[in-house]
Amino acid sequence: MKNGSQNLALQINSDIKMLRLIFEHLPLSILSGFIGVWISGDIVCVAFALVTGWAIDIDHTADFGFYMYRIRRESRVAYSTHLPQDWVDCLKTGKYFQGNGKVLVPFHSWEITFFLMLGAFSSDGSTWVWTSAMISHICHLLQDHKTYATPLINYSFVYRAFKGFSYEELCK
Ligand SMILES: [Zn+2]
Repeated sequence: MKNGSQNLALQINSDIKMLRLIFEHLPLSILSGFIGVWISGDIVCVAFALVTGWAIDIDHTADFGFYMYRIRRESRVAYSTHLPQDWVDCLKTGKYFQGNGKVLVPFHSWEITFFLMLGAFSSDGSTWVWTSAMISHICHLLQDHKTYATPLINYSFVYRAFKGFSYEELCK
């Protein structure tokens, strides 16, 4: 019975993590988009802000895909401890980061913020589309920084590459 309630608690915990991953960035992304609409009148601001502030978590599938690829390629005893009982559970909990020993998440990068800023400076008619997208992206990274207590420098792709994307180095 105790195992049953522990499993239920784990299940609820992983469901909350998944829901959090899906919804926590939505309010600030929408707000960033509507700031752009308010200033420029261009509704496209909302779409871009949603892409750069909300949808970037899709890049977790890069790490998850790499995890599944490794398991298929090297289904040896050494990796059996990392085999997910249930891949949905693995996706929900983010176990693939530890399993890979790597943190890729390519869209979680200040370099993307920088390119959005360049877009805002060089654009003629759509400055606020780029700007609200940039604000939304910054909000996402700052929220993740606060939620996961990860140093801000870890959100640089170049820095992660310099550290070999090592989970141990980046998440110690
Ligand atoms: Zn994120």
